[in-house]
Amino acid sequence: MSSPHSNPPHRPRLVLALLAALLAAACAGCGSGAGTRDVLADAKAGRLIIGVKFDQPGLGERRPDGSMRGLDIDVATYIAAELGVPEDHITWREAPSPNRENLLRNGEVDFIVASYSISGARLNVVDFAGPYFHAGQSLLVRADDASITNVASLNSGKRLCSVTGSTPAQNIRKNYPGVQLQQYDSYSACVEALHRGKIDALTTDDIILAGYAAQSPGEFKLVGQPFSDELYGVGLARGQTPAKAQINAALQKMFDSAAWDAAVLSAFGSSGIDPPARPAIGSLGSVKPVKPAAPEGLWHKYGHRIEQAFATTVQLTSASAVLALAWGVLLVAAQLCPVPVLRRSASVFVDVLRNSPLTLVIVFCSTGLYQNLGLTLASERSPTFISDNNFWLAVLGLAAYTSAFVADALRSGVNTVPIGQVEAARSLGFGFTKVLRLIVLPQAFRAVIRPLGSQFIALARNTTVASAIGVAEAALLMKEMIENESDRLFEVFGVFALVFGAFSVLFGFLFNVLGRKLEVRR
Ligand code: GLU
Repeated sequence: MSSPHSNPPHRPRLVLALLAALLAAACAGCGSGAGTRDVLADAKAGRLIIGVKFDQPGLGERRPDGSMRGLDIDVATYIAAELGVPEDHITWREAPSPNRENLLRNGEVDFIVASYSISGARLNVVDFAGPYFHAGQSLLVRADDASITNVASLNSGKRLCSVTGSTPAQNIRKNYPGVQLQQYDSYSACVEALHRGKIDALTTDDIILAGYAAQSPGEFKLVGQPFSDELYGVGLARGQTPAKAQINAALQKMFDSAAWDAAVLSAFGSSGIDPPARPAIGSLGSVKPVKPAAPEGLWHKYGHRIEQAFATTVQLTSASAVLALAWGVLLVAAQLCPVPVLRRSASVFVDVLRNSPLTLVIVFCSTGLYQNLGLTLASERSPTFISDNNFWLAVLGLAAYTSAFVADALRSGVNTVPIGQVEAARSLGFGFTKVLRLIVLPQAFRAVIRPLGSQFIALARNTTVASAIGVAEAALLMKEMIENESDRLFEVFGVFALVFGAFSVLFGFLFNVLGRKLEVRR
């Protein structure tokens, strides 16, 4: 039987893996400025792309009619006007917290006005004009919850939510390690979880929390005193010094005019919070670029966490692979069975899952199945409930998604089984399950070992999507290391690309050997 995989593919895979590592390393190099935009040239050409938040009421919010509003939007519009670009020539681009540095480094935006705190780690990667606002980290809880009054109350096993790649999440991980932290990619996901009672508190800057509290009057309240200093800057790619000077001048002009008070009043007038004093432009207080770890220090600092992250990746891959295999077999059995409703349901399931983006499937498991339908896959009383539950929700999503591809692969294996064998078994009195179990599936499996291997390799790579619901696997740690160790991008990308490349080569080799040994020769 001829197979598209009849050449031993492990050698090309090795080359591909090495190429991927080189490419990742090369891209890390471009991050230092090669692909960035020239803000003043873009402004001169009459168009600016500005990164803002879309889901932060009061700061950056996109309304159902597509229009934008909030303090960050007003600040960005003012700056653009000062640079000669009218509002209708601005393209608003969503800038989620974990993606802001990449958007700047890859030249996808001219600048970012998105509750973007100036921090020592970020100063190594990007530059900031401003600051234009002084916020502080705080807590948002349900209005009827009296058990959390300040950050110290979190230590009694409370569940807290924040956003991946945000300074408040980093602060909690570093200074409050006993707290169970759920990380999502956006604050709106946290607000939904707080509303559903799945977390006890949401932490980020007070100004953002005030916006959410004002949006649902009577449902949430801010508690305690701010426990960090968050100076909001206008994020720029490095090397944009003339643009930075012009943006600083625009901010100063806005501060000195009535436009600033009007913007603050329209954004937060109804929230009851007193706007803080305007910060001095150009003064960063105690914020200084942090010195990234030296190469040998990198392993010392992260070695244990890298091991843990890859252990989680391996566990995610193995648990999802086992479940996907069993699920895939059931789907094929249903597709072949004589009951029309089962056949149709299995085919619809395979079609839907095969054509859905994996991120959507994983996020659905967390927000749909867990938050809305209350499905929990770990003990609620466990002090590690959040991480355990996220892990198993991710396994469920990955397995459901992969099972569709496993079922497809197995179906093609089933087609290689000669129909005469099935008819002979039937005439001997074998029922449907017996034919499937003893005749069809064993041969089908042996025919598709290599395609199944490819699915397994794809699954290992797909586990990176689990970071969207805060599973602490390799990709989540890589995001953090890229932000904190910007001078060591080459090593960081290299380590992660090489380990993933090694997984592919190893599994590719194993499945080829298995495929060659077990293939049914006809
Ligand atoms: N200001 C904090 C930060 O820049 C939190 C707000 C946000 O995530 O946008 O990380």
